Amino acid sequence: MKLKKTTFIWGIICLIFSAQIHRTFSQETPIEPTNFITVVENILLSRRPIKIINGQQIVVDNAVTPKLDNVCPIKTDATAKRIFQEYGAIFVSRGTILPRQCIFDTELDIQSTQNQSMRQSANIGGVQIMLQKPAMEALLKAIQEAAKKKLKISPRGGSLAAGRSYQDTVGLWNSRFYPALNYWVGRRKISRQEADDARALPIRRQVAQVLEWENKGLFFSKDLSKSILFSVAAPGASQHNFLLALDVEQFANKEVRKILAENGWFQTVLSDLPHFTYLGVKETELPALGLKPMLLGNRTFWIPNIVEPTTKLEVKKK
Ligand SMILES: [Zn+2]
Repeated sequence: MKLKKTTFIWGIICLIFSAQIHRTFSQETPIEPTNFITVVENILLSRRPIKIINGQQIVVDNAVTPKLDNVCPIKTDATAKRIFQEYGAIFVSRGTILPRQCIFDTELDIQSTQNQSMRQSANIGGVQIMLQKPAMEALLKAIQEAAKKKLKISPRGGSLAAGRSYQDTVGLWNSRFYPALNYWVGRRKISRQEADDARALPIRRQVAQVLEWENKGLFFSKDLSKSILFSVAAPGASQHNFLLALDVEQFANKEVRKILAENGWFQTVLSDLPHFTYLGVKETELPALGLKPMLLGNRTFWIPNIVEPTTKLEVKKK
């Protein structure tokens, strides 16, 4: 009887102790931030084409399933991976039409993508710009709110400040690519032959080549200090191509940035200071959409929080 009583007391002690351990570990285990990849995959899945048969929603089997691998093959294409990392935020924008791919190769592709969305143009301070309709409505509301505080929100750099054609993005790319290439040839970091070869490449492969050089520290931005992708987009992959971005003249004004954020416009491309992206949500919703805040200077950039499960698997194999 005495033994049973002792066992019982020890049992209770062990229970309390294990509960305490469990509680301690639960408290210390960090909460995993939402993975941007998972969020985008769920968004794409929720947009699978469906039809109604006998009152039931049926997924259209023969339609192309918009998996992330089809939209932006981040596992197999290094350029797509970078594009998704740097400009991917648009894939969580709300109430807008999303591109079928994260990079397009032709003017026709960009035109048909732009045609699929509801578009709205407006004349802002004498500059004609075009955006997807929800983005434009939010911008006009922000401009009104700013005016009440005697502030202006205006496009920076003429009509290219918002929607851009494929050719517009090629022109901007070339404005960085050619001078930087000449610079690195002059510094003998890139040979004349390599430069000639790169000039002759189709754009998509030219982008891949530039990113490869940048991996070795040969940067192609205007001041050659950072990646070209923080300066201009890869052609056919710009948020401007998808009518969801605006370069703002008054980007340095904190109050302007606050008004834009309150109307769903955020900075999502790290260190591209005048560039704002329409996401159409409140700032408090951004972490759950897989975007993490990064402070640069006194500005908050919302960057895709990309967690790749394959990295963990590779570590396990070794
Ligand atoms: Zn921009």
